[in-house]
Amino acid sequence: FNTSSYGQHILKNPGVADAIVAKANLKPTDTVLEIGPGTGNLTVRILEKAKKVIAVEVDPRMAAEVTKRVQGTPEQRKLEVLMGDVIKLPSDQLPQFDVCISNTPYQISSPLVFKLLAMPNPPRTSVLMFQREFALRLTARPGDALYCRLSVNAQFWARITHLLKVGKKNFNPPPQVESSVVRIEPKIGADRPNVAWDEWDGMLRVCFNRRNKTLRASWLGTKEVLNMVERNYRVWCSMNDIPLDDGVVEGDGADDDDDEDMELDENVDPSAGDEDAEWGGMDVDGTADAS
Ligand code: SAM
Repeated sequence: FNTSSYGQHILKNPGVADAIVAKANLKPTDTVLEIGPGTGNLTVRILEKAKKVIAVEVDPRMAAEVTKRVQGTPEQRKLEVLMGDVIKLPSDQLPQFDVCISNTPYQISSPLVFKLLAMPNPPRTSVLMFQREFALRLTARPGDALYCRLSVNAQFWARITHLLKVGKKNFNPPPQVESSVVRIEPKIGADRPNVAWDEWDGMLRVCFNRRNKTLRASWLGTKEVLNMVERNYRVWCSMNDIPLDDGVVEGDGADDDDDEDMELDENVDPSAGDEDAEWGGMDVDGTADAS
């Protein structure tokens, strides 16, 4: 197998595979989406516990491998293998699922998390293996150096728990970085924020697109953004029958130097504004073996 292009690091420690599946608290009625089943080390364990597994695999050789592994077993009829890139698969073409489990190929960590969070009917829980630093970004708090758009989005839409540190030696071949298993439980029902995903994420992109800048300087000070905010405010007022007091929203972008209020953390990571680019195929050397 060409292990690099698809991030193929097979989990070889059965203890870690058991722990991941145990942390998902599967019910016998659950349908599970597994991203990248590979040779099926997680798949066979999930099949023991769940009603059904839908496994999305981009590499035909891996898809054949996992299919072969369950052939002739009672679990065979519970496994559906979908060939393709999970990121390119429109959410509405995915069958409904209750839980997502993945030893995630690191190239797709960010788009996968965004895809799961943006789903109108998100899974009850997701237990996902990521590069350690990506996991730390997911859980970073305001003021942390790793706090970024991903942190805000993830914690806005879901409860995130760091579950397990996994050292590189637990994989074959070992990746260059340490890994972590994270649980993502989307807020549902009344807990789910009542805002449009695109609008919220658009606002965060603006907030995080320049480092070491206050919100006032990078956002409110821009005429273009002020005009957009004014337009949106006018639409919102008319939709809610609120009379407009013209002149209230001035949008002149003046006073750019006054950075006193609404200050973003000055330590925000330089690359924090664009996780998609940053995480695409990134390799960073890790050190500790924390398995
Ligand atoms: N689940 C197996 C395990 O734990 O041993 C394999 C994990 S390996 C890190 C990642 C798997 O995801 C590989 O089988 C790879 O072919 C597959 N993969 C990579 N990119 C993918 C994508 N965009 N959509 C679906 N599967 C993908």
